[in-house]
Amino acid sequence: MAEQKRLTEEDAQAQLQKFFAEIPRTISLVLFCDPAGKNEPFAEGARQIIRAVREITDKVTLREYTLQHELAKEWQITRSPTLVFAPEAFKIRWLGAPIGHEAQTFMEALRIIGRQEPGLGKEAMKVLAKLDSPRAVKVFVSPSCPYCPQAAINGIRAAVARPDLVSLEIIDIQANPDLADQYAAQSVPQTFANEKQIGLGAQPEEIFVASLVALEPQRVFIPDSDAEEITCDLVIVGGGPAGLTAGIYAARSGLQAVVVEKGVLGGQVATTPMVENYPGFTQVGGKTLVDIMVTHALEYVKIFPGEEVQAIAPGEVFTVTTTRRRYKARAVLLATGAGYKKLGAPGEERLAGRGISYCANCDGPLFTGKKVLMVGGGDSAVTEALHLHNIGVGVTMVHRRESLRAQERLVVSLRQSGIPVLFNSEVVEILGESRVEAVRLKNNQTGEESTLPVEGVFIAIGFTPAVELARSLGAELTPDGYIKKDERHRTTVPGVYSAGDVEGGFKQIVTAAGHGSEAALAIFEDLINPYWTNQKKR
Ligand code: NAP
Repeated sequence: MAEQKRLTEEDAQAQLQKFFAEIPRTISLVLFCDPAGKNEPFAEGARQIIRAVREITDKVTLREYTLQHELAKEWQITRSPTLVFAPEAFKIRWLGAPIGHEAQTFMEALRIIGRQEPGLGKEAMKVLAKLDSPRAVKVFVSPSCPYCPQAAINGIRAAVARPDLVSLEIIDIQANPDLADQYAAQSVPQTFANEKQIGLGAQPEEIFVASLVALEPQRVFIPDSDAEEITCDLVIVGGGPAGLTAGIYAARSGLQAVVVEKGVLGGQVATTPMVENYPGFTQVGGKTLVDIMVTHALEYVKIFPGEEVQAIAPGEVFTVTTTRRRYKARAVLLATGAGYKKLGAPGEERLAGRGISYCANCDGPLFTGKKVLMVGGGDSAVTEALHLHNIGVGVTMVHRRESLRAQERLVVSLRQSGIPVLFNSEVVEILGESRVEAVRLKNNQTGEESTLPVEGVFIAIGFTPAVELARSLGAELTPDGYIKKDERHRTTVPGVYSAGDVEGGFKQIVTAAGHGSEAALAIFEDLINPYWTNQKKR
């Protein structure tokens, strides 16, 4: 037994020697500790692990200073212990001791830094290459957490891949409970960048880098493509519920389809605080529902977000030119949705982004504890007013009629919430010097005008269909300005189809998804048996 143990220790020793033999560079470590012995057990833990490493290899050097040393002041190090890795090349600090599960992170850090190779996959590197502004990353970890090494190592890889822009602090919550409190990091691992939480739990590296670049947690990773030209059967323009569903149905029918989205995947759903009428989900956050849809669609189709379609040239084969590349396809589906409708009141344009918002989900938290006005009387206005109320915003609604247009269930919730509603009232002007200060309202029954002091105005008065591409293709529109189509979602231009809110109608997530599926099935049948060979223009 003793013999067996000795062999195991020798094995481990040999493995460690091999580990360091494969590291080409010396790694300099600088340890800062409190001279008065604050957090001494952690400081001693850090010393011991570094000492153990230095017994095996001379590739690790250590300098130790107190927090009063001028270097501590120069580097703004105030916590004990703080371990700094290769400060000549990187900005990586460890606030605590690499003990327990964190010993694994420490060894991996030495390997990554010693090789100066981040060890990130190709996709993650492509995403990181796009980073163009600094990121100060904080990863909260605990020695007893087996999931923490992955989160910390993601941070190390990013800091080594982009030393110009990424700095990292690995924060042991046991050594720094006050910092954990300050960041409300009550579970580990948790990752912050530029003081925003970008990850809860261990993230795959691609999701981590995507979250780091976006500065918000991402749940879906969409690989980038360098292709200049992509040939397929169908280009779906728009990545909302209609476009994503069409992608699934088209691919399952055997068509090669791609989804191109200029903005945010999911369209309006992505900014809807809560969805309560999508079958299968009693209550689901709009963004969560979108992530589920996108993950599902990615099983079938390639999705190209952040690409705006600039032109569609019709012909036997359509050429769809985007801001990134060209697509050649036999059919095009316009699932372009709708944009926010503007109120047209004086002050709206001037104060946009300075207290005027069209997205309560996005901007609501900025108004917590403040008074705002919600303009509109439909489902969006009521859903968003309820959301604002729930996050502590003092919201008043204003509607131009004497009753709301929203669904009864929402109206009941609104009544129960106690949110005041000013009926028969219109916004005449939005007032404020450099930001919203008040609104001028007019009662359209009595003609009486009043001024309501508010710090924000949320506008949810419907949407304007995004029909520019349809128009440029020469497709006819309805008198209401939506794309004109038949029951198979064919527009008046052969080979061009439509689905979702751009067609008008009920504009529900479920109807958009339904129309997306119908359009894709119709396209599949038409591509087998093209109606336009018999009929040039309908
Ligand atoms: P909407 O149903 O078209 O309602 C727009 C509201 O804004 C109406 O009350 C309208 O007043 C008012 N309005 C329009 N132009 C105005 C102006 N210039 N000044 C003042 N008020 C104006 O739009 P939405 O609420 O954004 O809903 C769009 C679609 O999405 C709808 O089909 C809706 O059912 C759906 N949606 C559903 C849900 C849900 O199911 N939970 C949530 C959000 C949206 P009038 O009443 O006088 O026309």
